[in-house]
Amino acid sequence: MNDMSPTKLHRWSDAEWALRVQLADCYHAVEYLGWSEMMIFNHISARVPGPDTHYLVNPFGLTYSEVTPKNLLKVDLDGNLVEPSEYDPNPAGFALHSAIHGARPDAHCVIHTHTNAVSAIALKQAGFGHDDFYGAQLFNRIGYHAFEGITLFAEEKPRMLASLGDKDVLVLRNHGVAVCGADVPKAFMTLWTVQRAAEIQCQAGMIPGANTALSDAVRQHCADTAARLVGKSGFADKVFDATVRKMKAAAA
Ligand SMILES: [Zn+2]
Repeated sequence: MNDMSPTKLHRWSDAEWALRVQLADCYHAVEYLGWSEMMIFNHISARVPGPDTHYLVNPFGLTYSEVTPKNLLKVDLDGNLVEPSEYDPNPAGFALHSAIHGARPDAHCVIHTHTNAVSAIALKQAGFGHDDFYGAQLFNRIGYHAFEGITLFAEEKPRMLASLGDKDVLVLRNHGVAVCGADVPKAFMTLWTVQRAAEIQCQAGMIPGANTALSDAVRQHCADTAARLVGKSGFADKVFDATVRKMKAAAA
């Protein structure tokens, strides 16, 4: 029986299994789209349904394409295993995710990337612009956190969380980005918007001449509409599911 089978040959609840399948698909989609350049070090984490504050995350050492519903690790807020696994966790790498999950119970999924485009924007003092279609959707939705080093140490957490506030996007200056969402598809769709904004802004920056600026009122209207659509039941799921279908068709 292959590992992706929806057939119940596993020990988890139906809800947890559905999340495992969806999260593994998300890892594969991020790989498919070329957003997994850090190989084994980045994470996508999702809270396990139920009363426990447990999270699913990739086993340390596997590439995103090697993640499966069954080999996803279940960890606590400190990144320690709460179920045995043949794989090791990476608590240091999980620190960013644990900080966000711990402070933002609405953020059931956290995705961290450093693609070229996102890292280039994170390097610029101005950060993201809000004049292109995707950037406008992110107006007033981004927090910025100053770089303090590679690992997120405990003493850095309060400052990082203050930078995030109630936003869904945290630019880690000189580093990359973390996005959060109420579920995997919502976080994925926000990441999509962030990635596309970064790509377009990098490209536009290479073309001489001024950008056509939007007013703050138009930017805010655009961001509010985008947030309402992403929050709508089933909307982000359609985008996520379509991405997964496209990915699987390309692999067939
Ligand atoms: Zn990173």
